[in-house]
Amino acid sequence: FPSKLPNVGTTIFTVMSALAAEHKAVNLGQGFPDFGCDPKLLDAVNDAMRAGHNQYPPMTGWPALREAVAAKIEAAHGRQYDAASEITITAGATQAILTIILATVHKGDEVIVLDPCYDSYVPNIELAGGVAVRVPLTPGSFRPDFAKIAAAITPRTRLLIINSPHNPSATIWTDAEMRQLEALLAPTNLMLVSDEVYEHMVYDGAQHLSSARYPGLAERAFIVSSFGKTFHVTGWKVGTVAAPAALTAEFRKVHQFNVFTVNTPMQAGLAQYMQDPAPYLNLSAFYQAKRDLFVQGLAGSRLKILPTAGTYFVCADVSSVSNLNEAEFCQWLVREHGVAAIPLSAFYGNGFDQRVVRFCFAKKDETLIAAAERLRKL
Ligand code: PMP
Ligand code: GLN
Repeated sequence: FPSKLPNVGTTIFTVMSALAAEHKAVNLGQGFPDFGCDPKLLDAVNDAMRAGHNQYPPMTGWPALREAVAAKIEAAHGRQYDAASEITITAGATQAILTIILATVHKGDEVIVLDPCYDSYVPNIELAGGVAVRVPLTPGSFRPDFAKIAAAITPRTRLLIINSPHNPSATIWTDAEMRQLEALLAPTNLMLVSDEVYEHMVYDGAQHLSSARYPGLAERAFIVSSFGKTFHVTGWKVGTVAAPAALTAEFRKVHQFNVFTVNTPMQAGLAQYMQDPAPYLNLSAFYQAKRDLFVQGLAGSRLKILPTAGTYFVCADVSSVSNLNEAEFCQWLVREHGVAAIPLSAFYGNGFDQRVVRFCFAKKDETLIAAAERLRKL
């Protein structure tokens, strides 16, 4: 039968993790921690299961978890979301984003994404019958180009997707940029998807600026986050969407027939664990130390390290190491030098090659030291 996604293969993350396993490489490709989560979180989930929280939770998510998320957003960003009508628990950010797109994009609607972007966005848009309009971030700096975004808006534009802290470039949006976006969208009726899964990983004293802080953005935004990133449990696949009640109502119409709801004990355990804010408030310091360890380990290598302001990724320009394009470079690196990385070209529509690859530093210190040692030899 005709494929619904004729141009889509297997995600780069799956491909690179398989190659890393095959070559017994240090896997700094796919973004996930190689260390465990806080045992208190495991206890909280175990307690929830033993307390009998094993049947369907409400379709919208475990109430105490929705309340904990609303309280966290209010404390950090000063906007009140109603836990009953404006917060929904999802099966990770991935399901949240697909469900938002299915709920809002009609056949032929245009959705603006900023290249490079997370690899699920465009196939999601196409599955909904929409048209993805790729607007490049400024090459080199990865800053948003508001003139280009403005020029891409047409009467058919339904949604804009932004992502800060940004995977893969590790940049974060500034207050001036958030305000510029707010001004740009003010005269439009576009909705916004604000992918904030790395919200608790920002470095060097910077603050994460959620769309929730900007009234002109928040009123039109679906704000997406992921407990997997924040609590070192990417395999649990639990995330959230915060959005004004009218948007949430449309979101839930699709969510209920997509997954209906998300596993109960993880939600109940997360709700219990989130009563203490220290783990997520300390996450930036925890990861900043890992970033610095890895970057210092690369001193003297031929890689040109790009700055990391947020996320758990470091990008490096590899042009002085080899003449291979990014994708070939990553193949060579994993096969010949035993380190897996992700080529940035995987996040662009046309395979744009700027000789930059992404390393994930959500790894044990010993893993980072071992990887840096191999990379110094390139
Ligand atoms: N958005 C971005 C930018 C991501 O990096 C990821 C995880 N790689 C996701 C969404 C998906 O998150 P989850 O694992 O919670 O589905
Ligand atoms: N978000 C992770 C990354 O960017 C991978 C998630 C996945 O494997 N789908 O590496």
